[in-house]
This record gives sequence, C-alpha cells and structure tokens, in this order.
Amino acid sequence: MPRAEKQPEKEIRCGQCGRLLLKGEVVDIAVKCPRCKTINRITSGRLPQDVATP
Ligand SMILES: [Zn+2]
Repeated sequence: MPRAEKQPEKEIRCGQCGRLLLKGEVVDIAVKCPRCKTINRITSGRLPQDVATP
C-alpha cells in the first residue's frame, strides 16, 4: 500500500512581528506570541490576523 507523500508543514507566524509560532495544519486556533504578546487568530486557509483583546 503506497504511503501518501507527506505534505510540508505550514509555518504559522505572528501577524505582528513575524515570529514563528506553530508548524503544521491549523483548523481554528488562537495563539499568543511570546515576543510581542499579540494574539493571532488562525483559521484554515487564512493568514494570521490580530485579535482585539477585550
Ligand atoms: Zn509577535
């Protein structure tokens, strides 16, 4: 049984400072950048966007 080729992992970077935050497939996640404290909301197929903190 042929093994499917592994897809290269996507790099998820901070929308504010460009720091690498995550690698791999993301469906829907919010991650806080340890460098600039920006909360990046990432959903599948979208670029990181800043999320306004309440
Ligand atoms: Zn950042």
